[in-house]
Amino acid sequence: MNYYSLNHKAPNTSFKDAVIKGLAPDKGLYFPESITPLPKSFFDNIDNLSYSEIAFQAIKQFVSPEIPEDILKTIVEETLSFDFPVIQLNDHISTLELFHGPTMAFKDVGARFMARCLGYFNQNNTNEVTVLVATSGDTGGAVANGFLGVKGVNVVILYPSGKVSDIQEKQLTTLGQNIKALEVDGVFDDCQDMVKRAFLDDTLTSTMQLTSANSINVARWLPQLFYFMFAYKQLHKTHKDIVFSVPSGNFGNVCAGMMAQQLGLPIKHFIASNNENNVVTNYLKTEEYNPKASVQTISNAMDVGNPSNFIRIQEIYKNNFESLKNNLSSFSFSDAVTKEAMLEIYNNYNYVADPHGAVGYLGCKSYLQENPNAHCVFLETAHPTKFLDVVEEVIPQKQALPEQIQAVMGKTKEANKISTYEDLKNFLLQ
Ligand SMILES: *Cc1c(COP(=O)(O)O)cnc(C)c1O
Repeated sequence: MNYYSLNHKAPNTSFKDAVIKGLAPDKGLYFPESITPLPKSFFDNIDNLSYSEIAFQAIKQFVSPEIPEDILKTIVEETLSFDFPVIQLNDHISTLELFHGPTMAFKDVGARFMARCLGYFNQNNTNEVTVLVATSGDTGGAVANGFLGVKGVNVVILYPSGKVSDIQEKQLTTLGQNIKALEVDGVFDDCQDMVKRAFLDDTLTSTMQLTSANSINVARWLPQLFYFMFAYKQLHKTHKDIVFSVPSGNFGNVCAGMMAQQLGLPIKHFIASNNENNVVTNYLKTEEYNPKASVQTISNAMDVGNPSNFIRIQEIYKNNFESLKNNLSSFSFSDAVTKEAMLEIYNNYNYVADPHGAVGYLGCKSYLQENPNAHCVFLETAHPTKFLDVVEEVIPQKQALPEQIQAVMGKTKEANKISTYEDLKNFLLQ
């Protein structure tokens, strides 16, 4: 598959090149040249397919021929070595748990898939690739874990000091080997800006091959479309009119769901559920897109003021506001309302949701008020114990720590503090 830049000023390129570059030379995001729907028989037969078989069929067109089929099968199987259960809360609301991977957030799948693709492309390459990534919390851990020990790849993670949870910080600062963490005196947007500036810096790009492992990278973004198929497999017999409520920050996950829909998956509607970082909620109301500085919330992985994947969503709907609106609703919720929802979910369904999942639950409730016959699946994007402070403040029950979390708790943090772009540059050049 070839990819074009959404800025339309760079040449089209292969999957391999798109993964290694991350962003096109004109700074546009890459988008596949074509999307061929899967045959109807694929969806009719989905009960008989394993998760790996579903994923293999769904992603094949986007990565071939650069990744041969036998290699792709292995990559997919290794990537998906944990479960993706749907838990039904009531007749109209279910949750899809995406936190059973090694760092207990949904980003594990994209990070593991991308790491294996890059490892494959790089196996005979003597030039090292540096993966530079900004994180609002969960990307850092997932990328650190996914890329640990991958030959020829160095990883540098920038995270905002004091603005990620303790567990998130441990996950991205304690692995060592080819993983380095930079603790930035600033907010997530500062980290993201530094990363973007590095990609534009000729001094850096002429001396090293930089790539990104944020959802702007097609190999991080596209595998997320699997989730929607896995949920469909579990629910389609009992429910029609399946809609998804996706807790959204950079909008990579919801955009991947839309790609699943383009492949023919019968999804009726999407809900982008936001915290108070609500650029898209406002856009759907006013048709005016006004990015703004992010504000800090309890669902910190969604504290994004200028969602980078929104441009891909615009591309899917051919920049047609009406067709976008027909397929996507968006709601925004305050921290106070989110905490109330966490308690409500616990009291009514004996289920502990993390703050991001709770925002997704609220999106379901808002949508169902107008569309009472739908079945809404909210994505539970992280395990509640990743946000232990908030969860234990709200839920009157001590939380047991899963082994993935326990394993990092006692480890010692190693991070370099930086405050300016020059600091980052010096670090990379040393
Ligand atoms: C990254 C993340 C999100 C937001 O996903 P996007 O693809 O950036 O919209 C939501 N919840 C959690 C827990 C995350 O880590």
